[in-house]
Amino acid sequence: MSLELVHTIAQTRALVAEARRRGRTIEFVPTMGALHEGHGSLMDLARRPQGFLVVSIFVNPIQFDRADDYERYPRTLESDVEFCQARGVDLVFAPAIEEMYPQPQRAFVEVTGLTEHLCGRFRPGHFRGVTTVVAKLFGIVQPDRAYFGEKDAQQLAVVRRMVRDLNMPVQIVAGPTVREPDGLAMSSRNRRLTPEERRAAPAIYRALQAAAAVVAAGAGGTVEVRRAALAVLESEPLLRIEYLEIVDPDEIQPVAEIDREVLIACAVWAGNTRLIDSVRARPPHAA
Ligand code: AMP
Repeated sequence: MSLELVHTIAQTRALVAEARRRGRTIEFVPTMGALHEGHGSLMDLARRPQGFLVVSIFVNPIQFDRADDYERYPRTLESDVEFCQARGVDLVFAPAIEEMYPQPQRAFVEVTGLTEHLCGRFRPGHFRGVTTVVAKLFGIVQPDRAYFGEKDAQQLAVVRRMVRDLNMPVQIVAGPTVREPDGLAMSSRNRRLTPEERRAAPAIYRALQAAAAVVAAGAGGTVEVRRAALAVLESEPLLRIEYLEIVDPDEIQPVAEIDREVLIACAVWAGNTRLIDSVRARPPHAA
């Protein structure tokens, strides 16, 4: 089985339609490339006996709130295609910007409420860019199932809500966060870290684990939970905290009391690189 690399919407539609005619389901993993084991685990989840596995690789300009982040985002198409080949991907759709945005985009998809906190608060327009490109990709690929990582927990909640509220005929499947042996969540942006920043970065997950332990022990409210995480993060001078919040995992709204499962999420800067991570935690005797 050989992989097809295509750059146009028309070719993608034709190959997907042909796979459907042969009775295969369409399984879809959208990415921005610079592929790593986090993406690989989603591909593994998406590979099904009767499935036609489509991966998109597109660094979507309209979801970047900072021009320097967009410009510095790693682009490694050649090795990404090899990665996909080894993972049993059938079709890689890697469009140029002009293919996705041949004229100024005037139609947007926006999910309200869930985008007010966490990254939504600090990256204006980011989620509108994400939901718009995901809606476009769904319109192009028309998958039966699409796979997203829990690593981007707010994105996952937002995409799920978009699909539900707009009655899109696609099932969203979530994959767990894949981490380096020292706990750092895998991310394409990790390759931009200096060696010193890379050594400091695992404190992010340690902080989240410390906070989750307070929740699991029923040992405090939101103040104590945040304090536990901040103590770890603040001990690492190379890290600068953008936010650390405790929210409802579906609505992404801050909780006043920890009486059910919560999402503890943070964004942290290491030099010029912004890293995000999150964990879910459940208090004892939660409903
Ligand atoms: P990206 O290429 O960063 O836009 O990510 C593409 C998809 O891979 C998204 O659904 C991400 O949530 C997912 N992903 C990225 N990093 C990880 C990771 N460390 N573990 C699991 N999924 C991930």
